[in-house]
Amino acid sequence: MNTSSQLATAIRGSVITPTSSEYEVARKVYNGMIDRHPDVIVRCANVADVRTAVNFARQEGLTVAIRGGGHNGAGLGVCDHGMVIDLSPMKGVRVDPVTKTVRAEAGCTQADLNHAAQSFGLAVPAGIISTTGIAGLTLGGGTGYLTRKYGLSLDNLLEVDVVLADGRFVTASAQENDDLFWAIRGGGGNFGIITSFLFRGCPVDQVFAGPMLWEMENAREVLQWYRDVALTLPEELYGFFAFLKVPPGPPFPEELHHKTMCGIVWAYCGPLDQAEEAFRPVRKFRAPKFELTGPMPYTALQSMFDGIYAPGLQWYWRGDFVSEIPDQAIDEHLKFAAQLPTLQSTMHLYPVDGAAGRVGRHETAFSYREAKWSMVIVGVDPDPANAAKITAWTKDYWSALHPYSLGGAYVNFMMDEGIDRIKATYRDNYDRLLAIKRKYDPENFFHVNQNIRPD
Ligand SMILES: Cc1cc2nc3c(=O)[nH]c(=O)nc-3n(C[C@H](O)[C@H](O)[C@H](O)COP(=O)(O)OP(=O)(O)OC[C@H]3O[C@@H](n4cnc5c(N)ncnc54)[C@H](O)[C@@H]3O)c2cc1C
Repeated sequence: MNTSSQLATAIRGSVITPTSSEYEVARKVYNGMIDRHPDVIVRCANVADVRTAVNFARQEGLTVAIRGGGHNGAGLGVCDHGMVIDLSPMKGVRVDPVTKTVRAEAGCTQADLNHAAQSFGLAVPAGIISTTGIAGLTLGGGTGYLTRKYGLSLDNLLEVDVVLADGRFVTASAQENDDLFWAIRGGGGNFGIITSFLFRGCPVDQVFAGPMLWEMENAREVLQWYRDVALTLPEELYGFFAFLKVPPGPPFPEELHHKTMCGIVWAYCGPLDQAEEAFRPVRKFRAPKFELTGPMPYTALQSMFDGIYAPGLQWYWRGDFVSEIPDQAIDEHLKFAAQLPTLQSTMHLYPVDGAAGRVGRHETAFSYREAKWSMVIVGVDPDPANAAKITAWTKDYWSALHPYSLGGAYVNFMMDEGIDRIKATYRDNYDRLLAIKRKYDPENFFHVNQNIRPD
């Protein structure tokens, strides 16, 4: 029988067990609500370590969780008992300025990836918090400030290296193992462990960006204007809508601290000298109570809210894709926004139109190409005593808005919501995902995920 000390001798990275001094830190993920105790955590230094860990776990019959940035809301980057295969030490990034591509190892965060790309005037579309892992983000979709102009993260994926359940190492792209390449673009960690991603780099340098906030007494008007106008603006101009409480500190004026407000966070990625023109329709609308927009590097925008959402907070979210926001839905939004339970709890509407919407719904496993927004309602608080309160608010808010949605959610905004919700995410792509799962992972070795069950 293999033991973890035998495993340790075969691993270039590190093997952490419950008796290791690093264990308590290593088992934690971003969401402070998740409290799981794996038997062993393998911190991989390279592909060989990933293969060794997979083969060991398979031979020993261990449950395996895969960890990239650890940001998954449902805590899918860690399991009870079994093994965590942690790729976070694998942070190599190589930018090719000639082909304008970016090769990144699976442990990279968005900050790692775009720090390297920015130096060459490139960016890979990713999310709004720089500490999120590119692996989980990309394999589920990847929406953010560049979505309207350049598509989802997975729309910019050209190739991946994968360790399969049987330990084989394969490359998947449009030319090679194209079924696997189709499935991993939206199907998450169901099919194997991605060890590196090859992305198309998009030309992005300085952006003109930042938040505008309005008083809640104007929220109906702001949301109606946002609904009617925001997606008619040029695709270089992206704005996500939010209900929020104002953080109690600079740069916000004291009279706004803790106040519930609504806002739009803008990001214009076109030529800076045309930003003013792009913002003209925004400027014609009601002046915001507070504004903090200006030119900045894309990487600065990507880390703008990192301080508000530090790791370890209690976190419960629910999402849905949305294509219309009727006035009755706005009534419900206003009702629940008025009850925001804690300082960091929020509701965001992320645009997923433009370039993301021009990809066919069967071209990748990501199905909701007709959606206009990916909505997320998220209860957040540092205090575990408030876990029930933020969860109840999120569920009630979601239940009130779900009838106005397209019926399914972005897979990366799901908790443990059951097979029907997973099927609702993939719709008529589900059967093809199932066939590919049966081909590449018939024993369901990779099941700590939004699971496509081969049985
Ligand atoms: C603060 C915050 C902000 C966010 N903002 C955005 C946003 O703007 N846009 C957006 O689209 N999403 C956003 N998300 C959601 C995010 O995309 C998901 O939480 C995603 O799962 C995070 O990826 P990770 O690698 O950090 O997660 P992890 O918890 O490490 O992994 C999650 C799951 O991904 C799979 N996985 C991870 N690595 C691999 C791998 N190498 N091979 C195969 N499977 C793997 C596994 O199934 C794993 O269980 C945000 C999340 C948080 C917490």
